This record gives sequence, C-alpha cells and structure tokens, in this order.
Amino acid sequence: MKPAHGRTPPSDTSLDPEDWDALRSQGHRMLDDMLDYLQHLRARPVWQPIPPGVRERFHEPLPQDPEALADLHQRFMTEILPYAVGNAHPGFMGWVHGGGTAVGMLAEMLAAGLNANLGGRDQVPVAVERQITNWMRDLFGFPERSSGLFVTGTSMANFIAVLVARTAVLGPAVRENGVAAATRPLTAYASAGAHGCIAQALDISGLGSGALRRIAVNERFQIDLQQLEQAILADREAGFQPFMVVGTAGTVDVGALDDLGGLAALCRRQGLWFHVDGAFGALARMSPELAPRVAGIELADSIAFDFHKWVQVPYDAGFILVRDETLHRQTFASPAAYLQRETRGVAAGSPWPCDYGPDLSRGFRALKTWFTLKTYGTARLGAVIAQTCALARDLETRIRKHPELELLAPVALNIVCFRYRSAHPDETNARLVVALQESGVAVPSTTRIRGVLAIRVAIVNHRTRLEDLDRLLKAVLAFGAKEAHQ
Ligand SMILES: *Cc1c(COP(=O)(O)O)cnc(C)c1O
Repeated sequence: MKPAHGRTPPSDTSLDPEDWDALRSQGHRMLDDMLDYLQHLRARPVWQPIPPGVRERFHEPLPQDPEALADLHQRFMTEILPYAVGNAHPGFMGWVHGGGTAVGMLAEMLAAGLNANLGGRDQVPVAVERQITNWMRDLFGFPERSSGLFVTGTSMANFIAVLVARTAVLGPAVRENGVAAATRPLTAYASAGAHGCIAQALDISGLGSGALRRIAVNERFQIDLQQLEQAILADREAGFQPFMVVGTAGTVDVGALDDLGGLAALCRRQGLWFHVDGAFGALARMSPELAPRVAGIELADSIAFDFHKWVQVPYDAGFILVRDETLHRQTFASPAAYLQRETRGVAAGSPWPCDYGPDLSRGFRALKTWFTLKTYGTARLGAVIAQTCALARDLETRIRKHPELELLAPVALNIVCFRYRSAHPDETNARLVVALQESGVAVPSTTRIRGVLAIRVAIVNHRTRLEDLDRLLKAVLAFGAKEAHQ
C-alpha cells in the first residue's frame, strides 16, 4: 500500500486473500470434493457413529491465530463430512428430510458470494423472492393480492400463520394490547396427528399450547370433521373464542392427508381461519397424479410448507403463503426511522420482506429455490414426488407379503409404518432400528402408532430407488430375526 501525504498507512485488515490464484485453486478443490461426494454417495454408509476422538476435536478453545484454509478443508473432509446425518444418501429414510441437489449447492455458493441481505430495499434478490411468491400463488390457486415469505422452516411458517390468524380475529390492536386483553380466550384446532410445532406456535404466540384442541382421527388418520365441529360448538358454549383450524397435508408420522375441502367448508360455516400445515404434502400439487389428493388446499387462508423436503432445495427453505396480504403486513410491519422507505434509491421497493415476518436480516433462500424450480421445472419435481409415493406403495406391498412383518398404518403418500413381529415388539423394533442405523445400510426412524412402536420409513429423497428398498428390507429381516430372539 502506498503511503499518501506522508501519513502512515493503516494495516490492511481486509479478509480477502493476498494470493487470489491460490485461493482459486483451493476453491476448485473444495468444489470438486463436494461434487465427488454427491456423485459417489451410494458407496458410503448412510450414517456412521462419531468416533470419540473426532467428537473431542470440536472441544477446542476459540482460535486466536490463523490457520491455512487447505488444512481446514482437510479437517472438513475427514472429521465433518463423514459424520453428518446422511440425508443426502439414497438410503436415508428417517424423519422427513430432503436430499438436496448439486444444483442447489451451486446456487448456495452464488448466494453466499453475493451476500445479499433480503430484509428489504430495492434489489433484484427481493424480486426473485417475490417471483417465488407469485409462482406459489399460481400453484395453489391463490389470488393476486396474496403474500409470501421465506422462513427457516414450516415450524416458523406455522408460527407466522398463528399470528396472522390472531390479527384477523382480534384486529391489529392486539399487537399493542396483547392477547391477554381479549375478552374470551382464543382456541385453535388440529388433528391428534398434527405436528408438535403447532402447539408450540400457540405457546410462543402467548395463547398457550393449551389453546390447541387436538381432535381425534378416523381410521385413515384424518381429522374427524364431526368431532371437530362439536368441539368448536362446545368451546363457544363454554365462553371460548374459536379462531383457527389447522389442517395437515401429509402428517409427519404416517403421511395422512386431512379432508381439506371438508375443513374449508367447515371453517367458512364457523367463520374460522383455515390454515394448512403442508410441510411436505402441499407440494404434491406439483404432481398431476397426486394433486387431487390435496384438493381444497386452494381454499386455505394460509399455507405453510418446506422447499427443503420433497422439492429437494438444500436446507433451509421454509415458506408461508397468506391469502390476505393486508392482514399479513398488518401483523408484522413496524415503523422505524432507520427503516424509512423512499420512492427512489436503495430504500425504495416497499413493502419489504421484513414487513411480513419477524426477521430483519435474511439470507437469499430464494436463489437456491429459483435455481431448483427453473432447472427442473415442476414436471420433474412432481415426478420425483410421485416416484417416492410409488416406492412407498411398493414397500407396502412387499411388507404385506412377509409373514414376519406387520403394516401399522395405511400408506397415503410416501411414509410406511410397520414392525417386525415378536413377543416384545416395542423392544425388538427399537433395537432393530438402532442396529440398522449403525450398520450404515439404511436409516429409518421410529414413531408410535396407536401406542405401539413403529419402524417409520419416509421416502423423501429423489435418489432413493428400488435397490435401496431391497437393501432396507433384507437388513430389517436379518436384524429382526436376530433382535427378536435376544
Ligand atoms: C417437517 C414438518 C414440520 C416442521 O417443519 P420444519 O421445516 O422442520 O420446521 C411441520 N409439520 C409437518 C407436517 C412436517 O412434516
């Protein structure tokens, strides 16, 4: 650096590299390693236990001195990459996790390089997010004035929906007065199979998780509409104010779909906000074959879903779509001098994404989603979704044929719940699942169906094929035989 006017130059504190060529080749090696990882994923174990020595390596003191990027990359390859959960792997069938794609990974790199902050202001990254909102509005048959927002996941999206529904019933003044000022306590309704984050959303919104009435399900694990309506009437009678019904499109434990058309009609009759938790199931709308299964979703007041599950966008990419943009904005927009809007310049482009949710600093989740939707189109993404359901049906058929195995719930979408028959089925199947996970062959998870422990196979990954189900079933039978006789 040249000294100017005889002053001593400040030390160069920039974090940019001194040698861009060296960084460039290091960057190419990192990119190649990740492409190799994705290309040869199937040859690796799905998951492997973390060796104590590796765990120990992450109890270091805060580093004071620099280390070479190449060395840290090496550590990533040997100590981090092999010990992730494994949801990118075709043999991963636990919980409901998306697999990600190489395209999504590359888009993440572009977004990180740009380092855009999508809280607001006049920039095309925000226009990309609005483009996705408009696409989702069209996909779900929502009106032009609908609003949408990227969030971490459906847990946050459901929370936002609860707050908007609360504004709808109590008016924007609730933001100042709080829910305690309501004359009658608010109550919400969802099926017994609804995700735990619904109760949590009521909890953190100040309404209390006790405000959620969990309604029994029928033999297809759908919310019982008659019992729902009775509960609403009983609550009104008892002095409560019912305000919201949450339907689920794809329950997390068995993949059941509530009767969304029936729920929409009931909500209209009762004057209630109709929200759909469609974390993974909502995007079945992209498959012409499956779309009829989520019919009625177009009548919702709000829909929460994840691009990071069935649509394979890398984590995280949750989304909330709201029919009434005004109510959505009235729930979150706040005047602040440092967030002043202009008609020209960088502070133009109001309303901003920060007017639709609690986050001000926000990453560019829209970019990896835009790349995914543009690269594959809804045709291929819909085909992936339909394929996971076809695989689940195939697994269901094979389970029915095995006398050692017992199906525990009907297969509505992509989730299969079953168990290995034994004298002590809960213990046997819990051990079986751990043994399977530790073998690295396949990773299912467990849940409880009507009180009994089930092996739960959720096929979400676009890479999963029949051969992966073959390996799973073979291992289930082998470990089952071993564990049942322990
Ligand atoms: C996954 C899931 C959620 C939670 O979504 P996150 O993205 O993990 O926050 C909520 N509801 C259902 C039905 C889910 O499958």
